[in-house]
Amino acid sequence: MSESFDPRLADIGADELRGRVILVTGASQGIGRAVALSCAQHGATVLLLGRNARQLNEVHARISAAHGAERAAIIEFDLENALARDYDALFAAIQARYQRLDGLLHNAGLLGQLAPIEHYDVPTWCRVLQVNLTAVFVLTQILLPLLKASEDASIVFTASGVGRVGRAYWGAYAVSKAAIEGLNEVLSAELSGITHVRVNSLNPGATRTRMRAQAYPAENPESLPAPEQITRAYIALLGPASRGISGGRFNAQPG
Ligand code: NDP
Repeated sequence: MSESFDPRLADIGADELRGRVILVTGASQGIGRAVALSCAQHGATVLLLGRNARQLNEVHARISAAHGAERAAIIEFDLENALARDYDALFAAIQARYQRLDGLLHNAGLLGQLAPIEHYDVPTWCRVLQVNLTAVFVLTQILLPLLKASEDASIVFTASGVGRVGRAYWGAYAVSKAAIEGLNEVLSAELSGITHVRVNSLNPGATRTRMRAQAYPAENPESLPAPEQITRAYIALLGPASRGISGGRFNAQPG
């Protein structure tokens, strides 16, 4: 990877993602919603994966109104409870309609609880690891053939500061995000030289969303950037600006 590449500073054209098919998980709200809208604005067809049909429909309607209905599709999918047949159906649907996938943003995430390991609730641990790590692995595995069919494919994993340096009381969330960095490194090493599919992790940084408010209830949300303000690095990593860059750990915000 290039040490000097910084997706926050990348030169992004208005049509940066033109013609690309990009899947965004957790597209119903927060960062995923903002990145999905930005992908469409930059020319991509966006596959909106999530479990909240009403919110996904709202995102779909916005993209349809601005760019045409063919530029978005909804994939109702619960990453906590999906079974093998659901993943197979997802693969088959994308294969039938697009025959390839150019970008995969693993954005969906679950905070779980803030508690010391000594008292951490075991079922909550399992749910968080399922959504933040295991589903990311399975979705990547099932979609890899479609990514390999693209001329220039990119996988972006969503990282977190508490996964890069572990923090007390962040429990399963911090551990899942540390493991995501491991998945990023292992997959990037495996794909290097045998395919042009690139793999990177991106830490959005403190952003004004539901999850952030859950983690920091006393914080003034207005002191944080809105999701719409941090999308540039996502577009750079999903599109041609990051061609040839793989295995990197990046940040969407300064600091
Ligand atoms: P939000 O809580 O606002 O959004 C999370 C998204 O994940 C929602 O779309 C949610 O869907 C979806 N999701 C959760 N569980 C599932 C599931 N079982 N199946 C499908 N979708 C699911 O969080 P953010 O936008 O803040 O977070 C986005 C990513 O950024 C996460 O990976 C988070 O860890 C990371 N991050 C965020 C930071 C921040 O400050 N906001 C800082 C560092 C990292 P639904 O609407 O149905 O709940």
